[in-house]
Amino acid sequence: MKSFFIFLFFTINVFAKPPLIILIGPPGSGKGSQAGLIKSNFSYPHISTGDLLRDNIEKQTLIGNQIEKYLENGSMVPDSIILKMLYDRVHLNDCNKGAIIDGSSRTLDQAKYLCNVFSDEYNLIIFFFDLSDKKATKRILNRVICKNCNTIYNKVYYPSKFDEKCDNCSENLFTRIDDNQEVIIKRLTDYNNQLPKLTKFYMQKNNVFHLDADQPRDKIFIVIKDLLLHVENNF
Ligand SMILES: [Zn+2]
Repeated sequence: MKSFFIFLFFTINVFAKPPLIILIGPPGSGKGSQAGLIKSNFSYPHISTGDLLRDNIEKQTLIGNQIEKYLENGSMVPDSIILKMLYDRVHLNDCNKGAIIDGSSRTLDQAKYLCNVFSDEYNLIIFFFDLSDKKATKRILNRVICKNCNTIYNKVYYPSKFDEKCDNCSENLFTRIDDNQEVIIKRLTDYNNQLPKLTKFYMQKNNVFHLDADQPRDKIFIVIKDLLLHVENNF
């Protein structure tokens, strides 16, 4: 097992601005779970591009109809659509004190856009979730989610106490339409194609942390929490 490692390029004085926490990792690496934990501990809203996309599909908006086709066959949704949704969401009032973005920054263009557009208002803090394809696949195939409160369970690793019901709100748990073997392989391939470019881009930035995602959920969160507490104390 890899040791738990982080690279700290950390300067205290940059945190006069609120944090914009960006989680990057393959599907199944636990970004969503960590985002949920950060949200409940720090009260930053959790912006999931996946949820934004799914919301649009569910409400059958014009954008929703377009993106449904991409998601169903596992293609990446074009940057222009993701970035427009993201920009609008981050500029809502609840993000004034900070926010968590999960599931974006998947391409170099998206990463550049986030840095360009948000760096003046926010301090970008980047967490990379490092996980092998094999482990990511196994996790995704067992993933179920509460539609009501977005809590993520795993039938193998983190099952709910009562079969197919959410522990928090008793709502039925569901499997995402894009959580199937064929789509997962495509999504992992897309991610792995982008990863070297993303890593290289962020290497030149401050506040970039690499997490070994093959660790228990709580253990990963302790590292993230310590880091963010440090940030908040200097806010
Ligand atoms: Zn729930």
